[in-house]
Amino acid sequence: MLVDSHCHLIGSHLDAAGLAGVLERARQAGVSGLVAVATGLAEAREVLALAARRPEVQGCLGVHPHEAGGWNPAVEAELERLLQDPNARFVGETGLDWHYDLAPRPAQEAAFRAQIGLARRRGLPIVVHTRAAPEATLRILAEEGAGQVGGIIHCFSEDLDFARKALDLGFHLSFSGIVTFKNAEPIRAVAAWAPEDRILVETDSPYLAPVPHRGRTNEPAYVTHVAAQVASLRGIPPERLAAATTRNLEALCGWPSCS
Ligand SMILES: [Zn+2]
Ligand SMILES: [Zn+2]
Repeated sequence: MLVDSHCHLIGSHLDAAGLAGVLERARQAGVSGLVAVATGLAEAREVLALAARRPEVQGCLGVHPHEAGGWNPAVEAELERLLQDPNARFVGETGLDWHYDLAPRPAQEAAFRAQIGLARRRGLPIVVHTRAAPEATLRILAEEGAGQVGGIIHCFSEDLDFARKALDLGFHLSFSGIVTFKNAEPIRAVAAWAPEDRILVETDSPYLAPVPHRGRTNEPAYVTHVAAQVASLRGIPPERLAAATTRNLEALCGWPSCS
């Protein structure tokens, strides 16, 4: 059993037929659990509708840092209402993206802090997106008490020092197709080193297709390539990596129940 702990299944890249194909190919590849991530309220509603009819899909609901310019109390209230759905397993993705800066930094920070608060109120773990803002991300997680609920540093692309601090805060590290890219030696080093009970694998599809699909549209079936690479870096069989990452996801959010 292998799980994709972070994929985007809602959006203009996938119509209904495309989505059915993506889910079928995931099943055939042995990927039996998918955490579908919403980047805003409209997607959050669609993720919940999908999770209601597909038992292999569960939801991660939040407002992405790119969308943080629209954050306000009404958005927060509606997100909190949607998070009451039992298929909502995580709050996110939230965090800071100072590489693209698509929303003003103060708005990103306010939305991030508020969503950590929401996660604590709901008792749900957080999925963190961080890009070009490592110190601020760690500082805000610490200041807002995010360690009380924990969660995932998704699409891990920081260094060993950041990894240590995130683990100390109680977070898990999720590795994406980046571990298969040529210039990713520092990230491979973290993937080889991190404790087995704190690692996950993801596609972040439709982005970041792993080698040998690099440059094409990514999809959850390809998490098998990410898992194979992480297993080989750690010198363990792929089956052990699959079992560990599935167990780790379950420890975080109570799903999928594999026992
Ligand atoms: Zn992200
Ligand atoms: Zn994402």
